[in-house]
Amino acid sequence: MIEKIFIFIFGSIVGSFLNVCIYRMPLAQSIIRPRSFCPHCKKTILWYDNIPLLSYIFLGGLCRFCKQRINIRYFIVELLTAVMFLLFYNRHGLSFSFFFYIIFICGLIVATFVDIQHRIIPDEISFGGIIVGFLLSAVKGLRLKPTTYNLKPLLNSFLGILIGGGIIYLTGILFDLVYFRLLKKPPIQGETESMGGGDVKLLAMIGAFLGWQKALVTFFLAPFFGALIGIINLLVKKDHTIPYGPFLSLAAFLSILWADKIINLIFFVR
Ligand SMILES: [Zn+2]
Repeated sequence: MIEKIFIFIFGSIVGSFLNVCIYRMPLAQSIIRPRSFCPHCKKTILWYDNIPLLSYIFLGGLCRFCKQRINIRYFIVELLTAVMFLLFYNRHGLSFSFFFYIIFICGLIVATFVDIQHRIIPDEISFGGIIVGFLLSAVKGLRLKPTTYNLKPLLNSFLGILIGGGIIYLTGILFDLVYFRLLKKPPIQGETESMGGGDVKLLAMIGAFLGWQKALVTFFLAPFFGALIGIINLLVKKDHTIPYGPFLSLAAFLSILWADKIINLIFFVR
């Protein structure tokens, strides 16, 4: 029990750092310096007001100095990260798999919240994630006993990058061809591409970590969430552009948990 509390607290601290990444990466600011400050009054946040989860509750979601509302996102990201740490700790213990998935999930969390706010996915996350996912998959192939090397995770990751990125790229080209050329629809708000390049790189990153099969499951799963939110968004806000990164991220997370079951269900493999 005590180690689970520790993992949860550790997760919330990492979540606090992810908040800094979410705020600063799209603004091209350093994620190390300066120390955290209030976006309204620019005052440096005191260390005891910077305690993950607790400070937000004690301050009632308001800045100590200017009493402006602190974005609820800070609390949500800290809680979500802490819960993810606990979930993967329960699944894998303190193992290589735990760190492998946690690094991946942290990338998805940053990608999701930056995409919601700015409609972009930072290259540090997507492109950086492709490299990290590929390298970690290479490490996965190491077998200490007997001292052989298993090529499968590495190949799986390589194909994941190609197929994951490729399938979104091709879908985008096909969609644009039909929508703009054949149906001759006018571009939406000056946009000529339906799928952003960020989504291509994000699914390539997902493929780098999870391999090509789970990248495909993610690709086919994401539109269901996208369509659902898209309809709600259209009814409520009358806005027809929605960020796609969060749905890819959610689908990737569900693929980790259930992709094998989904693949078995589709192909009736027992
Ligand atoms: Zn303030």
